[in-house]
Amino acid sequence: MRKLLEYEGKELLKNNNIRIPRGRVASNVDEAIEIAKNINNFDVVIKAQVLAGGRGLVGGIKFVNTKKETEEEAEKLLNSKIKGLDVNKILIEEKLDIENEIYVSFMLDRTDKMSKLIGSVQGGVNIEEVSNSNPAAISQITIDPLIGTHDYHGLYLFNKFDISINVKKNIADIITKLYGIYKNQEAFLVEINPLVITKKNEVIAADCKIIIDPAASYIESNDFPRYIPLDGNIGVFANGAGLTMATMDVVKEFGVEPANFLEVGGDHYKKAGEALEFLLQKKEDSLDGLIINLFGAYARTDIIIEQVIDVLKKRNLTIPISFRIKGTGEERAKKMVENELNKKVHMNIESAVQQLLSEI
Ligand code: GDP
Ligand code: MN
Repeated sequence: MRKLLEYEGKELLKNNNIRIPRGRVASNVDEAIEIAKNINNFDVVIKAQVLAGGRGLVGGIKFVNTKKETEEEAEKLLNSKIKGLDVNKILIEEKLDIENEIYVSFMLDRTDKMSKLIGSVQGGVNIEEVSNSNPAAISQITIDPLIGTHDYHGLYLFNKFDISINVKKNIADIITKLYGIYKNQEAFLVEINPLVITKKNEVIAADCKIIIDPAASYIESNDFPRYIPLDGNIGVFANGAGLTMATMDVVKEFGVEPANFLEVGGDHYKKAGEALEFLLQKKEDSLDGLIINLFGAYARTDIIIEQVIDVLKKRNLTIPISFRIKGTGEERAKKMVENELNKKVHMNIESAVQQLLSEI
């Protein structure tokens, strides 16, 4: 289990265009003073970077106004333990003018093996506590991995709560982006608590907790592509581990067996051509058909298809191939498949597999 520190998680949020407070991390007092001065003339929050929640309640979060206070509190925090953990880094951030604090998260629910989107209007406190003391303040939605998250999920999640529509739209947009992080990082949990609504109606992630699946550590390794040979005769090419598994399941439901597990997750979609080459090198002689199932969110399906078409043409592959494409880049990807391969693109995986089997 890999837990990210607040500032590491916020870095991911920022890279995915979710707004966070202006700030930077420091590992000594001098750095802290320099940052505090530059970002907000010492009107800042100093936050201990330890892997623990509820830091606010145990002195891990300090509000200061002056250089002297910054120096004192930074010094104190860096020499303290918060919840038994050494503080090696502190995050210095602008103070937010808070109107409201809400809660949003995606988490893997192990009981029904589905991802859940959870929202609450009672942010800033532990969600388990809210769930005990005021369950009506929490709302949740199960996410279908083939559909992913769209703005209506966020709107629906906060539907019953009294928040202005513009802020709700902003929250919905953040939720969609947060799901992208959840999926790409193969996280167990991504949580923004609190998601702050400021007096000016801005929506800013003030704290964040991200826990990454240990099995997803290949994302940082050079194992590419992540490929597992299987005994069947239907090649499976999909992007993302979840989608690949789902595709294999559907193939099996139709009474045939997948020839492989191959996943082109995260940034690897840019190397989809290489991945397909790899699969064909390993399996070409034993394949009776190939199913290509793409779901674009972060990954662009048109960029993947471009590469797939190159490989198919180069190899002059003659076995039946069937496509299902949804999401980012879909229109362009479809046109390429139709124009260059003279093939229909399916809307859902079942009909794609059906067509494949009818051609075998
Ligand atoms: P945690 O206690 O470890 O979860 O740390 P958080 O970062 O969530 O901070 C705890 C609480 O401090 C938040 O819920 C806010 O109420 C408050 N807080 C954090 N940052 C700011 C800020 O910039 N301005 C104000 N006014 N309050 C803040
Ligand atoms: Mn928090």
